[in-house]
Amino acid sequence: MTTSADLFATAQRLMPGGVNSPVRAFGSVGGVPPFMVSGEGPWLRDADGNRYVDLVCSWGPLLLGHAHPGVLEAVHAAVDRGLSFGASTPAEAQLAELVQQRVPAVERIRMVSTGTEATMTAIRLARGFTGRDLVVKFAGCYHGHEDALLVAAGSGVATLSLPGSAGVPAGTVADTVVLPYNDLAAVEQLFAEKGDRIAAIITEAAPANMGVVEPGDGFNAGLRRITADHGALLIMDEVLTGFRVHPAGYWGLSTFNDAGTLDDAGTAAWAPDLFTFGKVIGGGLPTAALGGRADVMEYLAPLGPVYQAGTLSGNPVAMAAGVATLQYADGVVYDTIDGLSRQLQAELRSALDAAGVDHTIQHAGNLFSVAFGTSGTGVHDYAQAQAQESFRFAPFFHAMLDAGVYLPPSVFEAWFLSAAHDDEAMERVIAALPAAAQAAAA
Ligand code: PLP
Repeated sequence: MTTSADLFATAQRLMPGGVNSPVRAFGSVGGVPPFMVSGEGPWLRDADGNRYVDLVCSWGPLLLGHAHPGVLEAVHAAVDRGLSFGASTPAEAQLAELVQQRVPAVERIRMVSTGTEATMTAIRLARGFTGRDLVVKFAGCYHGHEDALLVAAGSGVATLSLPGSAGVPAGTVADTVVLPYNDLAAVEQLFAEKGDRIAAIITEAAPANMGVVEPGDGFNAGLRRITADHGALLIMDEVLTGFRVHPAGYWGLSTFNDAGTLDDAGTAAWAPDLFTFGKVIGGGLPTAALGGRADVMEYLAPLGPVYQAGTLSGNPVAMAAGVATLQYADGVVYDTIDGLSRQLQAELRSALDAAGVDHTIQHAGNLFSVAFGTSGTGVHDYAQAQAQESFRFAPFFHAMLDAGVYLPPSVFEAWFLSAAHDDEAMERVIAALPAAAQAAAA
């Protein structure tokens, strides 16, 4: 049998760190990453024959769990028709319509292949549309690995304790202004000084790449107000939260659910100019998108002067996976995941309390993560996220892994559930928590 250790050794000879995306290398938790060979529902199986409850769900896309029969059937049917045509196909408009039904502010959409492409294009589009150069991002928010946004980024950049990335010219980030998250006064002040030079604010709808951090009351709506007042665009990055925390993403969760913010027509009182989507929209295949105001989106080529393109954009097999995923993701799916998330948060809290581990459980809708040693303040920004007792995570993680639970291998990542997480899977996770909490206490 070829073991994970063998496979990792081979991979390390062939690929930097043995991986094709850094956090998979287990750098912050140590040990040999299991090499996965199959997934079914909430379960993953590795090359050594171990079976894990998967709380990574491919870092978000697998809202319905692994190998959902309906999604697989749609994908198989698409594969049988051919893999890629380099021409428009019917499924692109089908996926676009499904997105628009859920998020009506998406008047036009462009499919791309990764979340990075979506945010990169959104930034270029905002600069082209406004004729301005400055872009505002928040410390700890991750928007993919595009040069201009790789400063004070979360996700793997936070996990590896990097301030940004080598290879990004100073000139490229000179037009990126980084502000502390959840600090509307800092945004007001910046716009008072430089508002006429700012093309856009980009923000995670609810950050989940410095651990999960909830936007404070009125924070996103405040960004909307300030950008509108100064003729700048608001780009809401829902690559991670989109179609996961609510049928209409975090924007939907925070607007549609609050009757006080609906207008007479029942639509939300405010929306960003542009959204970016990824992960769930492709159901596990490489698809992402940007969408929003028609007049802004029509600045994109071929109608407008802002160029963007992609050999595999709108790939028919990926479109089929996305369409099927959104079609199956009905209210029951969201209710199920919300309920499982509440249950797991409660069990996690009581296991850590019983072991005397100081912590907060950070959540935004059904997304959550644990931050150690933060009960005094909670985590509202990147400085607080970085100040936590992150050393407690590695022993916690390995105790869970030994008990057959596959968590994201970083304290800065959210835990992902799916509608396929059944009683057997949940019981295994819950049974593993007390020993993991003890390990974190040591
Ligand atoms: N934006 C957010 C909020 C993300 O969480 C991610 C990835 O985790 C991205 C953008 C980048 O997406 P991708 O990894 O598909 O390039």
